[in-house]
Amino acid sequence: MFQRLQRSLDLQTEVGKKISIHIGVLSLQGCIQPHEPHLKALGATFVEVKTKEDLNQIDGLILPGGESTSILKLIDLFSLETDLMKTFNQVPTWGICAGAILMARKVASPKQKSFKILNITVQRNSYGRQSDSFNTEIDGYCVSFIRAPKINWVGPEIHVLARYNQEPVWVSYGHWMASTFHPELNSNTPSPMHRQFFESVVKHAQSKIGPKKLR
Ligand code: GLN
Repeated sequence: MFQRLQRSLDLQTEVGKKISIHIGVLSLQGCIQPHEPHLKALGATFVEVKTKEDLNQIDGLILPGGESTSILKLIDLFSLETDLMKTFNQVPTWGICAGAILMARKVASPKQKSFKILNITVQRNSYGRQSDSFNTEIDGYCVSFIRAPKINWVGPEIHVLARYNQEPVWVSYGHWMASTFHPELNSNTPSPMHRQFFESVVKHAQSKIGPKKLR
């Protein structure tokens, strides 16, 4: 709590010069490091999140692609569940592929527990096996679908930011965002998805500082 307050104060003193934004990537398993050049290109600091203490240092969190079953087991092993849930409520969070599965309200084939923070249902491995993985353009930017889930239902409040073959593949609600594809593997940095997430993190951080304190 103190650390988070300290971070807000740090942000406050840096407004006017430059806001210092720390974006964490949950670093238990999966595609972690490739986010670093995208975040650096935006002027953000990349933080590898492994502990509860790391969660207190960040202004936004990426749940990376990987293997959602393994990530869930590691979250349990390191007793991170409660602190992650708190973080999801406090800072913008973006789930990518396995991360989107963790955020979904309902997970099918196979069924799996999730944090239920986005009102969507997902079907795992819906495009087939690893060898059926493919690259395609979303919003004019080349991204990778790797043993990706399909979002087969979205609640009425969910914004669909992009579709592939008519199906939603990039969605948001409030400060939460999910994509079933990986943009971080493209070396043309920053990706439009990282940019959009970064902008929501900056907006959120500024709203925490408050207009009075900015003067
Ligand atoms: N198939 C993985 C799962 O079900 C997700 C794959 C990915 O994140 N690229 O968790």
